[in-house]
Amino acid sequence: MGKIKKIGVLTSGGDAPGMNAAIRAVVRTAVYNKIEVMGIRQGYQGMIDANFNEMNSNSVSDIIQRGGTILKTARCEKFRTPEGRKKAYDNLREAQIDGVVVIGGDGSFTGARIFNEEYDIPFVGVPGTIDNDIYGTDYTIGYDTALNTVVEAVDKIRDTASAHNRMFFVEVMGAEAGFIALYSGIATGAEAILIPETRGESRDLKKMIETGNKRKKSSNIIIVAEGEQEGGAFAIAEKLKDDFKEYDVRVSVLGHLQRGGSPSAIDRVNASRLGHAAVEALLDDQKSVMVGIQNGEISLVPFRKAVKLHKDVNHDLITLAEILSV
Ligand code: ATP
Repeated sequence: MGKIKKIGVLTSGGDAPGMNAAIRAVVRTAVYNKIEVMGIRQGYQGMIDANFNEMNSNSVSDIIQRGGTILKTARCEKFRTPEGRKKAYDNLREAQIDGVVVIGGDGSFTGARIFNEEYDIPFVGVPGTIDNDIYGTDYTIGYDTALNTVVEAVDKIRDTASAHNRMFFVEVMGAEAGFIALYSGIATGAEAILIPETRGESRDLKKMIETGNKRKKSSNIIIVAEGEQEGGAFAIAEKLKDDFKEYDVRVSVLGHLQRGGSPSAIDRVNASRLGHAAVEALLDDQKSVMVGIQNGEISLVPFRKAVKLHKDVNHDLITLAEILSV
């Protein structure tokens, strides 16, 4: 393959605050290196529809502080088929795109890995998902902002819970991973935290909550990750309400507000580093790899590993949360 002269950039899967900062870094690093950049709109769908737009430094002015993604994102069924990927390849070739930066989660990287087994246009990934559940990186774009959004919301719920002697079950995002639940639970002093990582362990939910409530506190906050084995916050509250008759039991599902908002400083800085590193990786002839951050340093992880291996939460933090809720 010759030298890279033109690259494409897209966002795919769930949106996350900080994706715009990553797009900006990709575009400006390319411009700095005198490479052309095309924005590919709506994820892999945009490759199949040849929905490409030339970008320059001005295209990414004034976006570093904005949530969402200016390139839009999508879930694209056609890219899962060989015909869809062939069409995508033909369109990339036609537009003379020599490499692509994919900002997304593990589904997006699975698609990128399969494409790179079939075709010679290199793809490099940037981890963008609020769940922080990608192996090979300590950090994913959007996680820090989402976590801070949850903490702010739970602090507000705590105020009203204390005023009324209420027990609140607060459901947060995390279908497969409890990072947001565990960290927000510790940060807000939750009485109990229920996460998918403890799935399969026999747990006595009543006892867990009682442990965090020995002093008969004036309020109780139980953080529930949406992927919890017992079901969501509504199902768990229903199951337990008769055991805690002294409390007025309420449920709050935080939902999509966790995805939005202006990215935190950490997300802006890390997204900038990752976007820059992804372009550098393409220039270094890398393919089928994700750029990540490990112990504060940029790392390269093959898609094969990033999508297959499981990133576990730190179990010391589960113990810490239990100890600090006495
Ligand atoms: P999030 O973690 O936020 O959900 P994600 O990147 O994991 O983000 P997915 O919806 O799983 O989101 O995947 C995004 C897109 O990647 C899919 O819509 C599809 O186009 C592509 N993709 C996912 N899995 C595959 C696959 N096995 N083969 C080809 N393409 C795939």
